Amino acid sequence: MTEFEPVIGLEVHAQINTDTKLFCRCSNNSFGKEPNINICPICTGHPGQLPVINEAAVKKGLIAGIALNCKIPNFSKFDRKNYFYPDLPSGFQISQFDKPVAEKGSLKIDVEGKKVNIGITRLHLENDAGKLTHTSSGTLCDYNRAGSPLMEIVSEPDLRSSKEAVAYAKELQKILRYVGSSDADMEKGMMRFDINVSVRPKGDQKLGTRSEVKNLNSFRSLEKSIEYEIKRQIELINGGGKVVQETRGFDESTDTTVSQRGKEEAHDYRYFPEPDLPPLEFTDEEIDELRTQIPELPAARKARFVDDLGIKVDDAVILCDDKTLGDYFEKVVNGSKNATKAASLITSVIIGLMNKDNKNLDELNISADALILLMKKIDDGELSSSAVKTVLDEMYESGKDPEEIIKEKNLVQMSDQGELENICKTIVESNEQSVLDYKNGKDRAFGFLVGQVMKETKGKANPGKVNEILIKLLK
Ligand SMILES: [Zn+2]
Repeated sequence: MTEFEPVIGLEVHAQINTDTKLFCRCSNNSFGKEPNINICPICTGHPGQLPVINEAAVKKGLIAGIALNCKIPNFSKFDRKNYFYPDLPSGFQISQFDKPVAEKGSLKIDVEGKKVNIGITRLHLENDAGKLTHTSSGTLCDYNRAGSPLMEIVSEPDLRSSKEAVAYAKELQKILRYVGSSDADMEKGMMRFDINVSVRPKGDQKLGTRSEVKNLNSFRSLEKSIEYEIKRQIELINGGGKVVQETRGFDESTDTTVSQRGKEEAHDYRYFPEPDLPPLEFTDEEIDELRTQIPELPAARKARFVDDLGIKVDDAVILCDDKTLGDYFEKVVNGSKNATKAASLITSVIIGLMNKDNKNLDELNISADALILLMKKIDDGELSSSAVKTVLDEMYESGKDPEEIIKEKNLVQMSDQGELENICKTIVESNEQSVLDYKNGKDRAFGFLVGQVMKETKGKANPGKVNEILIKLLK
């Protein structure tokens, strides 16, 4: 039987996080707002209104392009893409046809330990359409989103599996967030995917006929739609059929795709240069200036955390997932000089608290300085790791100061040598059998004795010291 190879390309639409829309001064923040509240004659396509380009949106698009290793041409322009649909009141979208703001880039992804380089064809700017809600009594139009700035990022057909596509989309999301060009929040529709999928006999160079699936709005839909398309096309070919070029929609309830329109129904967009906007021109100096604004990107940061700070790859992945979290970690490392401990506290306790009520880091009220202070107390033997967790939990719940919590809950660890020695002696004297077992090589007996000391001190004895003292006593 023929072995097939899937060929996948991705188009990602990401909303640029400017304050205002792409061609007018309406607010670009309409999530959860009443319909048609952020609109004006420009973004609702009234006759005689002229668009004015939003400089911040262009800059953010360029920065994203640079971060994706794209070439930035010195000349770029807008074009009209004509189509009629009620979500587009002007009857055309202002997009970029042959002169995008960025092209020929690439993105490295890591899939199950294998590094793959994915080509990026182009990144162009365009305005978003409004949102339609179909009801039994008619279709409702909300133009709050109409005119929001979008960047469309088109990949080369370099992806070979659903896993690679998801890894690519996730890495892209991280980069757009790191450089501050998009919040890329998929639950708010700020990032959406169109895919094209074809299959070909392994080893063939010629591409098979592709189908497109549009408007996927989660990583899950992305993965499932690709898996379904690959399977569908292979079964079709193996059964003697032929894949037809068409646009398909994804049905989330069944994880299947269904035909929406064929090639013969494809739009003819009749692109032409946008007459109401001047072309964009960028000098090399302007492009270099933007280049300086790009922070260390997640992949480089992850490698540095592992190589220079010596933390585990899994922890590094988590810490670099979100720029704020990575910055927080770096601050704690600088203050505590203990990267491993900082990584373990943040990935376990801090992230645990963030996930508890789905909060972001700022909402936890646990500053990097507070974490540094608590880590110092562990080093000084004043607090146990479990007591630190108690303090952090309480800080999150009550917002109280860590010192106050330590005092209130009486969490200071018992480290007084004389006091601990006395308790250890009593435990050794009253557990003759365990002492004998230990001397006969039963290591478990030692753990039992430590446990007894901890019980006696209500968990407050410094375990390091208890170990030390018991070893000495049992010699
Ligand atoms: Zn407007």
